[in-house]
Amino acid sequence: MSESPEDIAQRKMQFLFALRSRGVTDSNVLNAMERVDRGHFIRGTFAERAYDDMPLPIACGQTISQPSVVGLMTQALRLTGRDKVLEVGTGSGYQAAILSLLARRVYTVDRHRRLVADANATFRQLDLTNITALTVDGSFGLPDQAPFDRILVTAAAEDPPGPLLAQLKPGGIMVVPVGQSDAVQHLIRVTRTETGFDYDELLPVRFVPLVEGLGRDT
Ligand code: SAH
Repeated sequence: MSESPEDIAQRKMQFLFALRSRGVTDSNVLNAMERVDRGHFIRGTFAERAYDDMPLPIACGQTISQPSVVGLMTQALRLTGRDKVLEVGTGSGYQAAILSLLARRVYTVDRHRRLVADANATFRQLDLTNITALTVDGSFGLPDQAPFDRILVTAAAEDPPGPLLAQLKPGGIMVVPVGQSDAVQHLIRVTRTETGFDYDELLPVRFVPLVEGLGRDT
């Protein structure tokens, strides 16, 4: 059954309300999230839950993050519109699509070739031309394109990975969930200063782990 324009408007309002009520208040981030339809990034039976504020399963045993967490992470990056961004953990490509509307250039990497292929197809379909998705072990960053103004890690590491810290420009910001995969993790914002790194703890989160090496499908 196809939705009426009223249904779509109502659903969009509820989606934005859920984001705001969970602390996503930056109007640029809210606008980008209004423009990127999460339904394009979820295939199969879960597609009808695309506008619920919950994580959902995607291919390769991974998950598309909860929209409010996507919003809070994007907001924490303090994008300027001129940034070169690295995302580690392409997954469905949803987060990268939102970043692409708020940054100059987005590189996104995943260890599963299949996820990268599906995400690239969606980026082409939506005409998002400033995103490059690559199959790479992102624990080592993307040295060819470094340094970056912003780095977003969407899988949990035990500590902020050293190679990623090294690929951050002075003044640059990295947002990363830190903690054991089966315990409470915290979203951390790392700011590179002229002399070192500042750390802020933002909120408790739950992400799939950052795993070294490429996926078995590759
Ligand atoms: N940002 C995604 C959700 C990410 S789920 C979205 O918007 O849908 C976490 C992703 O991190 C998974 O797809 C997983 O394959 C990937 N991942 C885990 N370890 C990785 C690594 N070392 N390098 C690259 N990607 C990794």
